[in-house]
Amino acid sequence: HLPTADLQALDAAHHMHPFTTNDELGDKGARIITRAKGIYLTDSEGNEILDAMAGLWCVNLGYGREEMGNVAARQMNELPYYNTFFQTTHVPAIALAKELADLAPGDLNHVFFAGSGSEANDTNLRMVRTYWAQKGKPEKSHIISRKNAYHGSSVGSASLGGMTYMHEQGGLPIPGIHHIGQPDWYAEGGDMSPEDFGLKRAQELEAKIVELGADKVAAFIAEPVQGAGGVVVPPSTYWPEIQRICDKHDILLIADEVICGFGRTGNWFGSQTMGIKPHIMTIAKGLSSGYAPIGGSIVCDEVAEVINACEFNHGYTYSGHPVCAAVALENLRIMQEENIVAHVQNVAAPALKEALDKLGEHPLVGGVNVSGLMASLPLTPHKESRAKFADSGTAGYICREHCFANNLVMRHVGDRMIISPPLIITPEEIKIFAERATKALDATYADLKDKD
Ligand code: PLP
Repeated sequence: HLPTADLQALDAAHHMHPFTTNDELGDKGARIITRAKGIYLTDSEGNEILDAMAGLWCVNLGYGREEMGNVAARQMNELPYYNTFFQTTHVPAIALAKELADLAPGDLNHVFFAGSGSEANDTNLRMVRTYWAQKGKPEKSHIISRKNAYHGSSVGSASLGGMTYMHEQGGLPIPGIHHIGQPDWYAEGGDMSPEDFGLKRAQELEAKIVELGADKVAAFIAEPVQGAGGVVVPPSTYWPEIQRICDKHDILLIADEVICGFGRTGNWFGSQTMGIKPHIMTIAKGLSSGYAPIGGSIVCDEVAEVINACEFNHGYTYSGHPVCAAVALENLRIMQEENIVAHVQNVAAPALKEALDKLGEHPLVGGVNVSGLMASLPLTPHKESRAKFADSGTAGYICREHCFANNLVMRHVGDRMIISPPLIITPEEIKIFAERATKALDATYADLKDKD
């Protein structure tokens, strides 16, 4: 290895990072991660950093599981690549599709593979429009999504997403996509009860459908618990009302399970936690615990029947890639053998909730949003009123830096601190997380006081 500073100089000279600027990389250069085991990362300076983000919400099994590497090596040597286009297939794709059909609830029995969550949402966009066109309703093509949602970075998936700062670059969204409000009671609920606010936000869907005409609306897409927008856990009234509205108006429901899927919320899928019955689920990330790039759409019988009856002119070179599929299968095998979902539900989530409730008493923390092992702690200058900081994002950024200084990775979305650790995290490790988080919050509080 070159010394850290030399690597950082090369990185700055040649490597374009997603979602960052040279200024943000700053004089310090990027942090270089060299190894990882369990929930800990090691950087090029030898620091052991507790990863409370599981990478990008994906390393659910934790790092360093040799079984995964062994399976990948075996599959590389046996059949490193073949495609699933036209009339060819291979054993890893068949086995993974069958496994996913068994794990997914209801009649979600069919899988269209992709290389990532973005690609899978592009598939969904074209699939729902094709579905209605095949049924003789080509005008039923509009898709309703939500403000501040994240569904990926491709043109289609970023259009489905509701992040305006993404839309501003590249002329998005593409036509026929509409965004309604989030059930973000903490930030936008004001004096309303969470239940009333949840209903109000769900009814925005019905208002939008009526405005466009139900015969024009193909689908509604949403994350069961919104992730990258700040971990927005919806009030209990929200999803039942959304389900009622989709059923009433014959709108396909797409649950983007890219973060929520595979145990994150304490069930195999966030749709089960929220009690909804989607027609399509988007999957990626936890499907392989991030060990290999793979995503897909799990599709219900009715939609699959219509799509399979026509030639769906869509697919990726790496749809169902054999090495990625084999790694995903091994991930699911380990998850079942080690009862990871039950561990989340019965052990890790209660321990995290207890730790977060304690952190919630910190003067800088305005509340606790948590579902299973995904959570956010919104920072506030005034606890009682849930007030926002005038310069949004600064407190979150300062806190994230103090987390790093205390060997902890927490991400910040504006002024919300985000937590999404590997699902294997133990109560003892959650205590270490809470100690480091407390130090980071204390240091942030002191910095902000100094600024006043
Ligand atoms: N959907 C959701 C809910 C996500 O959180 C993400 C990524 O963070 C995506 C889709 C995009 O997935 P990918 O980055 O694999 O393209």
